[in-house]
Amino acid sequence: MGLVTRAPQGVELRGLEKRYGEVAAVRALDLEIRPGELMVLVGPSGCGKSTLLRLIAGLVEPTAGEVWIGGRRVDDVEPGARDVSMVFQSYALYPHMTVAGNLGFGLRVRGTPRDEIERRVADAAAALGLAELLSRRPGELSGGQRQRVALGRAMVRDPGVFLFDEPLSNLDAELRLRTRDEIAALHRRLGTTMVFVTHDQVEALSLGQRVAVMDRGRLQQVGTPDEVYRRPTNLFVAGFVGSPPINRILLSRDEGGRLAGGPFALCAPADLDRATLGVRPEDLAVVPAGGLDSSTAGDSTEASDFRAAVLRIEALGSEQRVHLDGPGDGAWVARASPALRVSAGDPVDVSVRWERSHLFGPDGRRDETAARPVDRPGPR
Ligand code: ADP
Repeated sequence: MGLVTRAPQGVELRGLEKRYGEVAAVRALDLEIRPGELMVLVGPSGCGKSTLLRLIAGLVEPTAGEVWIGGRRVDDVEPGARDVSMVFQSYALYPHMTVAGNLGFGLRVRGTPRDEIERRVADAAAALGLAELLSRRPGELSGGQRQRVALGRAMVRDPGVFLFDEPLSNLDAELRLRTRDEIAALHRRLGTTMVFVTHDQVEALSLGQRVAVMDRGRLQQVGTPDEVYRRPTNLFVAGFVGSPPINRILLSRDEGGRLAGGPFALCAPADLDRATLGVRPEDLAVVPAGGLDSSTAGDSTEASDFRAAVLRIEALGSEQRVHLDGPGDGAWVARASPALRVSAGDPVDVSVRWERSHLFGPDGRRDETAARPVDRPGPR
């Protein structure tokens, strides 16, 4: 018999709300996690993601709303009977028990027959590369091995849903990457529903099939990593996802009816008097000042969008980050190829890939109209 015998369960949250006195940790939250999906909840510290995970687990009682797991409403169901297993940041292993003892503990307290415990522990240990370590105690394991035991302990319970609460944050950078890959591989192999909480947007995008971005208790956007990155629903998501963060400048309608700010004069959608232009660092093309004109001689329609001074270069090997004394508040960052030859103090010409830039309205919501300078032809 394989490790997972059960069908994965979906999770549905309806109008979910959790208040602690004046603090609304989770507000009016609707979210559907599909059976077998790896969903990552991500947002800055204090945004409510751990509370949300605990609401699913039943460790926290909602102030309002409903939690459904596997098509069953579980608001009144004890955590232990919800068909979920949680993996905590702090492993919470029993130091006096062996790895085998830790793995089987949850099953023993449930009165699972001994031979079944042994079989499940052996299966989980094999799946996680712990078979050689079964007789060791947690104190004799590395951080990564302890993390795997914590994972294995959740696995042996064969849950319909795995819940992960920042399980990688105690690991060093290299182990973090490796364990992340292991969890992704485990998900592919088991096909179990997994809900994973992290404050790290890179971790979220690299691990999640979909990510749910939260801010101040509210769900901001749910989508594939690509959707969230390329079509952020608002300024918060645009700024939170992506590193270095998206460049932005405030624009307001001028007497000519254009959205103007710094060097930009953009076509203004009818309903926008103020907006924020957002441009990702990789959507800025940088060349030494004057370079565009000479390299495109004969094609004089090509022009840069603004000239700026290089403040600083971060040479990262595979790319350079070019910090610019740019428009707006002055700190723009461009991603450039290592082949670009510029240094601090040099003037550069910068072009915006307008088709990939974003306009956000005064309420922060992304406008469907792509930003476009008034002196450029429209799409098509
Ligand atoms: P995150 O996991 O995103 O860091 P949390 O879900 O832990 O955020 O917390 C969300 C908000 O709820 C925070 O403002 C936090 O201070 C508050 N909060 C969480 N748990 C409690 C609690 N037990 N009592 C009071 N306030 C809490």
